[in-house]
Amino acid sequence: MRLVFATNNKHKLEEMRAILGDKVELLSLAEIGCFDEIPETADTLEGNALIKARYIYEKYAVSCFADDTGLEVEALDGAPGVYSARYAGENNDSQANMNKLLQNLTGKSNRNAQFRTVIALIIEGRENLFEGIVRGTIAEERQGEAGFGYDPIFIPEGCNESFAQMAAEKKNSMSHRSRAAAALNEFLQG
Ligand code: IMP
Repeated sequence: MRLVFATNNKHKLEEMRAILGDKVELLSLAEIGCFDEIPETADTLEGNALIKARYIYEKYAVSCFADDTGLEVEALDGAPGVYSARYAGENNDSQANMNKLLQNLTGKSNRNAQFRTVIALIIEGRENLFEGIVRGTIAEERQGEAGFGYDPIFIPEGCNESFAQMAAEKKNSMSHRSRAAAALNEFLQG
């Protein structure tokens, strides 16, 4: 089966190829000649994943899927959520995003949060959504250097270290993205 993953992020592609295995030939956007900046204008993760998948399906007529991820913080009514990449402004600055989040949680005792990934799949015009969640808490301050985004301040449930203190394999084994990918894989290959 041939599927396009609406991304040019090499890490995401490799992770997804490892999960889906040999039966799925996974192509990136660059591999189908797509270099468009696809607008992510929805106000939900589901909406943005669908916008990206529909854009590719309509323009290239290929079976495809797209993902969108957000960090949802309970005491902030689910923020930054769909706006996670640009919480502190348009330029996707992780340090500024973490500063803003820590600031907004000052004095709040409820530090529960979750990473949520949504994958929108379109096969022959039929749409399906998959979800992966990892629950945890927001640390008082940064811990660790690895990973990206909010990793230094996210401590997954049952762990005593942040995502940024873990080996990549450990994070990947429990991450929101790998759980959503496992749900997609289960649908595709049973
Ligand atoms: P995307 O939809 O995968 O581009 O994720 C949107 C934003 O969520 C990223 O820019 C990061 O700020 C944040 N994010 C997504 N996944 C992770 C993760 O695994 N660790 C930390 N932050 C993440």
